[in-house]
Amino acid sequence: MSSSLTALWDEVVVVPDFPTPGISFKDLSGILANHTTLRLTVQAWADRFRAEHPTMIVGIEARGFPLAAALAYELGCGFVSLRKPGKLPRDVHRREYELEYGMSALELHQDALTVADSVVVVDDVLATGGTAVAGIELVRATGARVIGLAVVMDLPFLGGCARLEEVDVPVQILIDDQGVPYP
Ligand code: AMP
Repeated sequence: MSSSLTALWDEVVVVPDFPTPGISFKDLSGILANHTTLRLTVQAWADRFRAEHPTMIVGIEARGFPLAAALAYELGCGFVSLRKPGKLPRDVHRREYELEYGMSALELHQDALTVADSVVVVDDVLATGGTAVAGIELVRATGARVIGLAVVMDLPFLGGCARLEEVDVPVQILIDDQGVPYP
């Protein structure tokens, strides 16, 4: 599988100075637009987490949504969204966190998950890890168990993997910021 993951890099567009000067933005929308790389991504995550029988796949707004929904379909799970503030209409759990380019927050409906749920959290890019840690904490605030974090690309120089050690969750990352597949 890891050799075929090199195909993912062909669909990545690196955009300098977006959304602010100095940020090298990794646009992964081509991975979704190409049915082969979309399938590769979902299959790699499904192979890693299927045996742990997740019940829900949680996607982080916005690029985590389509990837999480595809993984949920593949594994026979439900899909739940972690949203930016003010989007969810009912009572929420909320976490604020620091981004590579500013502050942000995530919210989760309080009744979206229960103690009976086992969850995989999904996002496109792991940068500083703040978003992923906030997402994992929000899932845990409902009493659900987090069995893993699935990410397409790590930006290793920002130390997200080290940050994730705080929350002690297995992480499956497919490629680094040069396109090299993770083992
Ligand atoms: P972080 O919380 O720093 O790990 O940031 C991860 C979140 O921000 C993910 O939802 C990414 O979609 C987005 N993100 C942060 N940095 C970048 C980047 N350089 N290129 C693309 N997306 C990024």
